[in-house]
Amino acid sequence: MKIKLDPEKCIACGLCQTYSTIFDYDDNGIVLFADRPGLEANFPDDPSILKAAKSCPTKAILAD
Ligand code: SF4
Repeated sequence: MKIKLDPEKCIACGLCQTYSTIFDYDDNGIVLFADRPGLEANFPDDPSILKAAKSCPTKAILAD
């Protein structure tokens, strides 16, 4: 599954990491990937990542 992040939409609520540890945050609490640079990456199918994407209040995480 392809995951895209839109940091400009992130409001630093911290919710996504409670669902999946692929998500981490910069010093301002804005979302980034925990283990790789960039805003777009492929991950093995994982319901917890989808749950994070669906739960993001500002739709800053897109899952294809
Ligand atoms: S759930 Fe959305 S708004 Fe909240 S920290 Fe994660 S990406 Fe940002």
